[in-house]
Amino acid sequence: MNKAVGTIDISAASRAFLERARRMPIGGTWVEALDGQTLDVTDPATGERFARVPAGDAGDIDRAVAAARTAFESGDWPRMRPVDRERLLLRLADLVEGHADELAELEALDNGKPVTVARHVDLALVVDFLRYMAGWATKIDGTTQELSMPLVREREFFGFTRREAVGVVGAIIPWNFPLLMVAWKVAPALATGCTVVLKPAEETPLTALRFAELLADAGYPAGVLNVVTGHGHTAGAALASHPGVDKIAFTGSTEIGKRVGKAALDNMSRVSLELGGKSPVIVLDDADPAVAAAGAAQAIFFNQGQICCAGSRLYVHKRIFEPVVAHLSGIASAMTLGPGLDPATQMGPLVSRTQRDRVSGYIEAGLAQGARAASGGEPVAGPGYFVRPTVFTDARDDMSIVREEIFGPVVVAMPYDDIDEVARRANDSPYGLAASVWSNDLSRVHRLIPRLRAGTVWVNCHNLLDSAMPFGGFKQSGFGREMGRAVIDLYTESKSVIMAL
Ligand code: ADP
Repeated sequence: MNKAVGTIDISAASRAFLERARRMPIGGTWVEALDGQTLDVTDPATGERFARVPAGDAGDIDRAVAAARTAFESGDWPRMRPVDRERLLLRLADLVEGHADELAELEALDNGKPVTVARHVDLALVVDFLRYMAGWATKIDGTTQELSMPLVREREFFGFTRREAVGVVGAIIPWNFPLLMVAWKVAPALATGCTVVLKPAEETPLTALRFAELLADAGYPAGVLNVVTGHGHTAGAALASHPGVDKIAFTGSTEIGKRVGKAALDNMSRVSLELGGKSPVIVLDDADPAVAAAGAAQAIFFNQGQICCAGSRLYVHKRIFEPVVAHLSGIASAMTLGPGLDPATQMGPLVSRTQRDRVSGYIEAGLAQGARAASGGEPVAGPGYFVRPTVFTDARDDMSIVREEIFGPVVVAMPYDDIDEVARRANDSPYGLAASVWSNDLSRVHRLIPRLRAGTVWVNCHNLLDSAMPFGGFKQSGFGREMGRAVIDLYTESKSVIMAL
């Protein structure tokens, strides 16, 4: 039976979990923060608090790192055979799939995203990625080398390389895809035999805690996954700078990513950073305006625009600029805003008051600087942190709405004349996470792809991810590639073995 949380109905399973969420798993025990502090968890559709989780701090990070170290150095985990790690990951995937409705409900409540999206995008990708990484557990290999040893000709040598688990992983993740980001960090760590201390975003700690329960149910040894819920500047900073961590895996803003990277470098912790973006959507003149506009809408409005690869700069050839903008504005104006848990909702609230104010600030700045809102642009009355999907035109390339990551449902549409011009303007950004090209002119598309400085280029689609495709950024969008074969390198060290025979 459903019961109300504030004005929202939630299932009995979720309600029971919210009571348990007052504790976090460290070394196989569910504990409160050492100093007893808690974090409020609020519903972005109403601003009301509906749960509390521990506000872990440096002391909690210390004990979580110690637990992860113990699990890595001794116990069953390091000795487990690859096939057993594979089976455990598959069992975890089954459990997550079996609880997908409950997890999607928690995600929608915590983050604000439409529950149908949480269920059919986030959860579907989580389960797929867990299974994909399970397969890798038995496929981690090294090389054998023919050695020459020119200085020691009188003996024979044999060389081979091994890939070994990097050790204790500190994972710091954002709030936009809370559980998917858990999976992106934890699944490769588990496949390769690492142990993890996970710090979820303070805005969205719930599904990480529920995931940790399911991981324990799957039969993972204690201490393999430890979760410390808490603030970024306390728990996050303590984890990033902890000398007991072998690798930091971070997804978040470029500003914090730089800080985290520097802290990791001081300890020589390995580090991967998946950071911000300002991705261009480039529509060539042969594209169907309605198709391109639908694609551009999906590129920027999916997840309320809170996605690092959101298509926030729309470059349309001047010949079809007007019809593309007209279609896109029509789509934006017709979108239904509402709470994530309402199945009719097409666009939920932004995750927090801070984020809503940030995005609204950019919209006001764009209007003040002379850009025109072809749709949206006006504030939405409370309660909740809603922002109308907004399409800007008449912008200049030096405006903050064109240059800076907004992380909200705001796109700037700009006309261009020729391919050289659009390639130059698309690359004129400190970021380089993704881009998309809309055209069926194969040779022009192929010639454009190598010119775009971006970690992912989509053609006639945008925001589509596959577990087998590496994902990460050029330039200030970070370094390292998650997913695909590439992720194995992030979670392993290479050891060279040279044997004199
Ligand atoms: P956003 O701007 O999208 O909220 P952030 O980069 O601020 O992204 O946050 C991403 C993650 O980094 C969150 O888990 C947050 O708690 C954490 N974080 C924030 N500040 C720091 C910090 N100084 N050190 C380490 N982690 C941090």
